[in-house]
Amino acid sequence: MAKAASKLKKTVAKSKSSSLVRAKAAAPVAARKALTKSPAKPAPKAAKKPAVVKSPAKPAADVTKSGKWVFTFGDGKAEGKAGLRDLLGGKGANLAEMANLGLPVPPGFTIPTSVCTYFYAHDKSYPPALKAQVEKALDHVGKLTGKAFGDAKNPLLVSVRSGGRASMPGMMDTVLNLGLNDKTVEALAELSGDRRFAYDSYRRFITMYSDVVLGFEHHHFEDILDTFKDSQGYTLDTDLTGDDWVDLVGRYKDAVARETGKDFPQDPHAQLWGAIGAVFSSWMNARAVTYRRLHDIPESWGTAVNVQAMVFGNMGETSATGVAFTRNPSTGESKLYGEFLINAQGEDVVAGIRTPQDITEFARKESGSDKASMEVAMPEAFKELTKFYTLLEKHYRDMQDMEFTVEQGKLWMLQTRGGKRTAKAALRIAVELANEGLISKKEAVSRIDPASLDQLLHPTIDPGARRDIIATGLPASPGAASGEIVFSSDEAAKLQADGRKVILVRIETSPEDIHGMHAAEGILTTRGGMTSHAAVVARGMGKPCVSGCGSIRVDYGRGTMSIGTRTFKTGDVITIDGSLGQVLAGRMPMIEPAMSGEFGTLMGWADSFRRLGIRVNADTPEDARTAIKFGGEGIGLCRTEHMFFEETRIRTVREMILSEDEQSRRAALAKLLPMQRADFVELFEIMKGLPVTVRLLDPPLHEFLPHTQAEIEEVARAMNTDPRRLADRARDLAEFNPMLGFRGCRLAIAYPEIAEMQARAIFEAAVEAEKRTGKAVGLEVMVPLIATKAEFDLIKGRIDSTAQSVMKETGRKLAYQVGTMIELPRACLMAGEIAKTAEFFSFGTNDLTQTTYGISRDDAASFLGTYVAKGILEIDPFISVDRDGVGELVKIGVARGRKTRPGLKVGICGEHGGDPASVAFCHEIGLDYVSCSPYRVPIARLAAAQAALGKAVASQA
Ligand code: ADP
Ligand code: MG
Ligand code: MG
Repeated sequence: MAKAASKLKKTVAKSKSSSLVRAKAAAPVAARKALTKSPAKPAPKAAKKPAVVKSPAKPAADVTKSGKWVFTFGDGKAEGKAGLRDLLGGKGANLAEMANLGLPVPPGFTIPTSVCTYFYAHDKSYPPALKAQVEKALDHVGKLTGKAFGDAKNPLLVSVRSGGRASMPGMMDTVLNLGLNDKTVEALAELSGDRRFAYDSYRRFITMYSDVVLGFEHHHFEDILDTFKDSQGYTLDTDLTGDDWVDLVGRYKDAVARETGKDFPQDPHAQLWGAIGAVFSSWMNARAVTYRRLHDIPESWGTAVNVQAMVFGNMGETSATGVAFTRNPSTGESKLYGEFLINAQGEDVVAGIRTPQDITEFARKESGSDKASMEVAMPEAFKELTKFYTLLEKHYRDMQDMEFTVEQGKLWMLQTRGGKRTAKAALRIAVELANEGLISKKEAVSRIDPASLDQLLHPTIDPGARRDIIATGLPASPGAASGEIVFSSDEAAKLQADGRKVILVRIETSPEDIHGMHAAEGILTTRGGMTSHAAVVARGMGKPCVSGCGSIRVDYGRGTMSIGTRTFKTGDVITIDGSLGQVLAGRMPMIEPAMSGEFGTLMGWADSFRRLGIRVNADTPEDARTAIKFGGEGIGLCRTEHMFFEETRIRTVREMILSEDEQSRRAALAKLLPMQRADFVELFEIMKGLPVTVRLLDPPLHEFLPHTQAEIEEVARAMNTDPRRLADRARDLAEFNPMLGFRGCRLAIAYPEIAEMQARAIFEAAVEAEKRTGKAVGLEVMVPLIATKAEFDLIKGRIDSTAQSVMKETGRKLAYQVGTMIELPRACLMAGEIAKTAEFFSFGTNDLTQTTYGISRDDAASFLGTYVAKGILEIDPFISVDRDGVGELVKIGVARGRKTRPGLKVGICGEHGGDPASVAFCHEIGLDYVSCSPYRVPIARLAAAQAALGKAVASQA
C-alpha cells in the first residue's frame, strides 16, 4: 500500500500548502465515520423496512429519571458497556467496553444521548445536574491521570469527541488538546521538556477549536502558515522550530481575535463547555439533517459527547498514531491491516498529508515500502496491538476498525468499531469467522447485505486483453470500469443523467463529491491512501477506485491530466482497475463475474436456509446461462415479445399485426413459427428440465407498428399492399393509452391464431428439447393480463388443443401447465374464480403496481420523486413492493386462489423479485418463488435466506 503512497509523498512534499492540519484534513476521517455502519445491515435504499437498528429513543426516559448524565471510563472499569450503544453512542459504548476488558484506554467520560434529547426539549439548555457531574468526572479523570483540568503546573488536557448510535458525518469533528492556553502550554513544554511539541499541540488545538466551535475555518490558518513558511524558506511543517510555532500561535490568536471580535478563550472550562455545546448543536446542522434523512436515522436519537484525557502521538520518534483493521477491509484476508505515522496526532494518518507507514512487516514487504513498519520500529507497542486486536475481534466476533496512539512507547486504544468492508471482504470474513467457530453459519448468512453482492457481480477486465497502463496507484476499491474522464462532480452527475459513462478524476475527494462519485462508474484520485475519503466511500458504494496515483498531474483549469509526456483531456476514455490500482488508456474488454470461493460457500449456506424458490426472468439463451451460473432454479418469466423484436423478425411481426384478414395473418405467422421454435429449443435445452414459464405475447401493440415512411414502405412491399392503405391501418391501430389498450391476452382473444402459433412453437420445441437432453421440459405456459376467467378459458382452450395436436403429430406425451399472470386488481379479486382453471399464478408486480396506483411507470418520473421527497410515498413502489396496497391485493389473490386450488403454485416476477425487502415480503406471505433478472439471482437467494432466518439471528452492531 505504500508504493504509490511514496509517490504521493513527493507530490505532497512539493505542494505548497502542506500544513498538517488543512481544510480538507478532516474529510477522510469523516468518511470513515460515515461508513461505520455495519455492512451486515441492508442498505436503507434497498430495503423498505431496513433492518438498521431502528428503535424509538426510549432509553433516554429512564435514564433521565435516574438523573445520571455522565458515564466515566478508564483504569480497567467503566460505568457504561457496549450494550448501551443507544445511550452512549457507538464510540462511547465501545470505549467503555474496552476499558472493562482491561485495555489501556485514556480515561474519560461520556455525556449520553439523553442529554442531547434534553437539550433540544429544553430550549438548548442542559439538565441542571449536568455541570456538577461533569466537574466530578473531570476530577476523577484528573485523579487517574495525576493531573488537574486547568491546572497551571500539571494540566489535564482532553479531547472532545462526538458520536451517536450510528456514526454519522456532519457531526462536529473532534477537538484535541483542549485545556491548553497561554499558561498551560508553558507547563506542557516544561513537563515534556519539548517546547516544539507543546506549541505544535497548542496550534493544533487553536485551529481545531476555531474551526469547529468558533466557525473560523482552517484555511485561514493554512494561509498564515504558508505565508510564514515562504518568508522563512521552509517547505515542510517539520522545518518549523519550537520558536517558529510560538510565533505562529501568536499570529493564530491574533487572527481569531481580529476575525471573530473575541479573544481566543483561555479558560479551560469555557473551552470545554464551548466544545460540548458545539457537539450538541451540530446534531441539527444542515449536513447532519440531510444525512439522517438519506439514511433513515431518526432525529430523536441524538448524539453523545465523549471527553477523554489526551495521549500524545506527537511526542517525538517513540510516539505515533494509527488506524488498523483486524482483517483486510478490501479483500477480507485475515491479517492485521493498517497504517500509522510516527510523531503525529489524531487525523494526520488518514489526512493524506504525510505518507503513512505499514503496520506489519508482511504488509511492508508486500508494498515494497522502504519505511520501517511498526512491527520493526515499535516492537513492544506492536506486540501489545497484536494482543489487543485478537482479543477485540474475539470479543466482538467481528472484524474491528481500531484507532490507537503510541505515546513514548506506550500503546493506547482510542476507538474500536465494526469495520466497514467491501462485499468481497464481507463474504470472506463471514465465511472465515464461521469456519473459525466464532459465529454460526446462520449468523454469517445474515451478516451480508444482499444488495452489496451487486459489487461482486460486476465485470472485470479480460485478462487476455493488452493493457496500456498509463499510471499505477493504490488498489483502493475492487472492480473495473471504463468511461469518459470528468474532473468535477457536477459534470459527472450531468453526463450520467445524459446516459454517459464517466470516470471521476480528482486530486482528492471530499464529502462534497458524493453525488459525482455516485454518478461515476469509477473514481481516480492522485492523492490519498487506502483509508482516504475516495477509497472508503468508493468501497462503500461498490465502485472501483484507484487512489493515490501520484504520477498523474491534474489541471482542473485546463481539464487535463498528464502522466509524463502523455496528456488526457475531459471526454477521453480511460479504464481503471481498482483491484490492481491501474489506470489504462481507452476502453477495455470486460469479462463476467463468476461465483466461486467464499461467495459460493456462503450462497450454499444461504440455500440451505431459504424456503423461497429463486427463478429468473430470462428471454435469451445468454440470460438463461447467466441464470444457471448464478443459481437460478428455473425461468419464472420468458417474455416472448423480445423474440419478436429482433431486427430480422420485426418486419414479419408487422406483417402479422397489420394483416387485414386471418389468411394473411396466418401466412405471416407461418414465417415466425420456425424462428420461435428454434428460440425455445435452445432455451429449454439450457434449462435441462428446470421449470420454464413462457408468457404469450404481451406488447402494447403500438410498439410493433412501423413509424417512419421507410418502415411502412418496407412492410407494404413484403405484404404486397399499398403503402397508403397500410399507413391508414397503422393509424387505426394507434392508441391513446397503450398500456391499458390492445395488449396482453386481448391480442390472443382477437387473433387466436397468434396464441396458437406460439403454443405450437412452444410444444414442438419441448418435444425437440426432450429428445436432445433426455429430460422433460418443466413447461408452464402463461397467459398475460387476465381480468376474467372467461378470457383465460378461451385462450387455455386454444393452448390445450394445440398441445393435443402436437402430441398426436409427434407421438409424444407432454406434461405442461397453463396458468396466468396476475397483474390487474380485478384478477386479484377474482382469483378464486380464475384458479378454477388456471394451474399456477405469477404476480406481475410491475403492472399490478401501475394498475393499483393508476400510475404509469414510464410517466412517473416527473412526479414520483416529489412524492418520495415529501414523504407521501416511503419508497418508489416500482422498486420495492408496496406492502400495504399492492401487497394486500397479492395476499388476497394468493388466499382466494389457494382456496379454490389448494397447493396452487404462486410466484412473482418483475423488478421486485430482486429487491431484498420485496423478497422478504414474498417469503412472509408464503409464495413459492420469486423471479428476478439474472444478475440479481444471488441477491434474491441471500435475501430469501435472511427472510427465512428472520430476526432470530441478530447481526452484530
Ligand atoms: P472520528 O469519529 O472522526 O474518528 P475521533 O473522535 O475518533 O473522530 O477522533 C479523531 C482523531 O483524534 C482520531 O485519530 C482519534 O484517535 C484521535 N483522538 C481522539 N481522542 C484522542 C485522545 N484523547 N488522545 C489522542 N488522540 C485522540
Ligand atoms: Mg475515530
Ligand atoms: Mg405485465
